[in-house]
Amino acid sequence: MLKAENVTKKYGQQTAVDDVSLKVQDNAVTVIVGESGSGKSTLARMLSLIESPDSGEIILDDKKTDRKSAKANRRLVQLVMQDAASSLDPHQSARQVIDEPLKLLLGFDKAKRAKRTDELCDMVQFPKDRLKNKVSELSGGQQKRLCIARALAAEPKYIIFDESFSGLDVTLRRCILTMLKKLREKLETGFLIITHDLDTAMYMADRIYVMRFGKMIETLDDPKSFLDFKENYSKELVRAAEYKRQALKL
Ligand code: ADP
Ligand code: MG
Repeated sequence: MLKAENVTKKYGQQTAVDDVSLKVQDNAVTVIVGESGSGKSTLARMLSLIESPDSGEIILDDKKTDRKSAKANRRLVQLVMQDAASSLDPHQSARQVIDEPLKLLLGFDKAKRAKRTDELCDMVQFPKDRLKNKVSELSGGQQKRLCIARALAAEPKYIIFDESFSGLDVTLRRCILTMLKKLREKLETGFLIITHDLDTAMYMADRIYVMRFGKMIETLDDPKSFLDFKENYSKELVRAAEYKRQALKL
């Protein structure tokens, strides 16, 4: 399990994350919902061991992390960010993008890398005939799949998706989420999905956390029972999602 325990992070006077605790379970999808500026990305960077908290602990498989162990363990928590294009090198080929972690993090030889790349393409439904193409020649959806393949290539225990699906059109988003849902069931990996979209949360989550103004205001262990939200803000999120659905006659 990946845990944040009473984690606080400040930038100058601004408290981005305020005494937050959460658990990312293995073999499950945990979701954080919250509006922009609520501290989700800051929390994601701390959970990915990229930044350290000012106070509180990030605990990876029952061990407290510090700066030193964070570096050694970074492979185990992969972060997939919102903007695929800016997190990829446009001059690299798709094959190079997947090859890098296989070579540098896992030390696989060439034959093993080729085999694994093939498997990863199947897992994320990336077209193999596009492996030779440069990143800049791929569609938005293909770039997104490539980012997910790169994260999986590192053989992490956890993958954090920070608004990774926000920029996609609805049909493509649903397609990628369905792929991830099936993939999650086959893997041991724990997923943490961060979104401002309650529909994505409802579709994916085994457990939902709601963040607001840097604080974790609510946890729902059974996301099927959305009516059990206690906080007004969370109820408002549900109402907004229902309104959208009715407006679209879904
Ligand atoms: P979210 O991802 O929910 O939109 P963020 O974690 O990005 O929220 O931001 C939370 C708050 O912390 C915001 O007010 C933001 O301006 C501030 N913040 C985040 N990162 C930095 C940073 N590197 N430097 C200064 N302020 C930051
Ligand atoms: Mg963010």
